[in-house]
Amino acid sequence: MTMSDNRQAGDMYDVAILGSGLGGAALAAILARQGQRVIMLEKGAHPRFAIGEAMLPQSSMLLWILGERFGVPEIQHLSKSESIREHVSAACGVKRTIGFMYHEEGKRQDLAKSHLLVPPVTPLVSESHLFRAEVDQYMVDAAVRYGTTYRDRIDVTGLEIGEDEVVLRSAEGEEFHARFLVDGTGYKSLLAHTLNLREEPTRLRTQSRSIFTHMTGVRPYDATLRDDEHLHLRSQWHEGTLHHIFDGGWFWVIPFNNQEGAENPLCSVGLTLDMTKYPDRGLPAEEEFREIVGRHPSIAAHFEGATAVRPWVATG
Ligand SMILES: Cc1cc2nc3c(=O)[nH]c(=O)nc-3n(C[C@H](O)[C@H](O)[C@H](O)COP(=O)(O)OP(=O)(O)OC[C@H]3O[C@@H](n4cnc5c(N)ncnc54)[C@H](O)[C@@H]3O)c2cc1C
Repeated sequence: MTMSDNRQAGDMYDVAILGSGLGGAALAAILARQGQRVIMLEKGAHPRFAIGEAMLPQSSMLLWILGERFGVPEIQHLSKSESIREHVSAACGVKRTIGFMYHEEGKRQDLAKSHLLVPPVTPLVSESHLFRAEVDQYMVDAAVRYGTTYRDRIDVTGLEIGEDEVVLRSAEGEEFHARFLVDGTGYKSLLAHTLNLREEPTRLRTQSRSIFTHMTGVRPYDATLRDDEHLHLRSQWHEGTLHHIFDGGWFWVIPFNNQEGAENPLCSVGLTLDMTKYPDRGLPAEEEFREIVGRHPSIAAHFEGATAVRPWVATG
């Protein structure tokens, strides 16, 4: 069979995008907005759970620039907490601070060993905690409005690159044809796999693994402090992303309920471990999480009464 045997008239796209995460969907919106014929193929379906929730000043600024440069206001809306709330989703949190607290086993956290960074307020952008289930869906919808053909539940398993077209094949045997291909499938990159671009074993392999979920009932950290532990700063730990750091790992705490009128009670919680200190012992993720939390009294107070609302994910 040649590359074009299965092609019907009119189904050649300018660009095929694999994956409809924020990266793939934002690109689809930009290209379709410029008049390109775009098809975006997604293995799963939205809305779906994803991490990569805490923005950085650079990411906000780049989203603002992309939206401005290519005339896609939907991308620009992500660059400021207020516009996210107005246009995108009321389920996102704010990130006005970045906190780092250093813990020792068996002891209350010593606030002298902590950092609270407060990025300057700028007129154009601010950082947020993106509730990806709603934000990614919003961007896919925008891409579709600009004319992108979107197909979900399509697991692309094969690709063939010819001189002037690329052919994609799904697990079910469906074919898609395009002049250009963009691989937005994330770290499992189909393109890297197919073109044998991976270094095995890679020198970039980290010695870390993570376990994470979304929880409800995570109190503001400030509310768990004793009277003598308050630093009386203008900013609160709860106003942004908080990191609890200990010998051999760190937790992330990314609340979605840290602004007035918040509608999402959830908090993204994760634990990253140095595998040389914490090799995989085969424990269920939640048991390992609770065990390490329990060794650190101030972290235990922070997660007291918190429960996971979805299955834990374990990497590594
Ligand atoms: C532990 C951890 C913490 C992180 N924390 C942060 C953070 O705080 N802030 C931050 O900015 N970033 C963070 N990141 C990074 C962030 O998650 C990623 O950079 C971001 O999600 C990448 O977006 P993307 O659109 O490129 O890919 P993804 O969001 O991964 O989307 C890829 C899409 O491709 C689809 N797909 C995969 N294979 C196929 C296939 N064969 N066919 C069709 N579709 C396919 C998937 O279903 C998925 O929808 C973190 C990452 C990790 C692992």
